[in-house]
Amino acid sequence: MNIILIGPPGAGKGTQANNLVKTFNLYKVSTGDLLRKEIGNNSNLGTKIKSLIEKGLFVSDEIIDDLIVKILSNTTFYDRLVFDGYPRNLNQAKNLDFLLKKYKQKISCVLSLEVDKELIIKRILGRQICSNCGLIFNDYFMPSSKKNHTCDPKFLSKRTDDNEKTIIKRFETYLKKTLPILDFYNGQNLLHQINGKIEIDQIFKEIRNIIASLEA
Ligand SMILES: [Zn+2]
Repeated sequence: MNIILIGPPGAGKGTQANNLVKTFNLYKVSTGDLLRKEIGNNSNLGTKIKSLIEKGLFVSDEIIDDLIVKILSNTTFYDRLVFDGYPRNLNQAKNLDFLLKKYKQKISCVLSLEVDKELIIKRILGRQICSNCGLIFNDYFMPSSKKNHTCDPKFLSKRTDDNEKTIIKRFETYLKKTLPILDFYNGQNLLHQINGKIEIDQIFKEIRNIIASLEA
């Protein structure tokens, strides 16, 4: 079973990817992790990637393809992948199709977590992290109080780059790049749109139902 998880930043994709990995013994493929790992390997490719990132340049689709090939050609991961945040554009989606065929694999389903801009803004802008104990709260959904948190409130902080403008821009870029991918997979009858506004546990329940219906 190979699964693609799609959703904007703040949709809870990472959490659901981890749930899938744990429950179905899958391997998570995130391009960020792959890039970091390659850099850590000190390979030629890793050195090239490092210099691109240091110059603030984009890592090309070709480099990403090379990293994906390493995963697809590794029999340990055969037919047990969760793609988290990849493919990011239509070009990558088409490349992935090509590579999957080459390595005699296919996508079982594409799960798109659907959320709206307002919710994303609240989730991201409201997020507070305690630097003392690591707990995460949210001004809108789960405020820190004496009942759920014993540290001094001075330890709570927000990420500074998470201002509303940045979030809206990221969201709009996501929509622009992702809608063609959704069409692409819908055309292959692989797309499942999931309401990402409900509770995390409920979302995973829906995901399990979808997977059960595939296996039936
Ligand atoms: Zn704390």
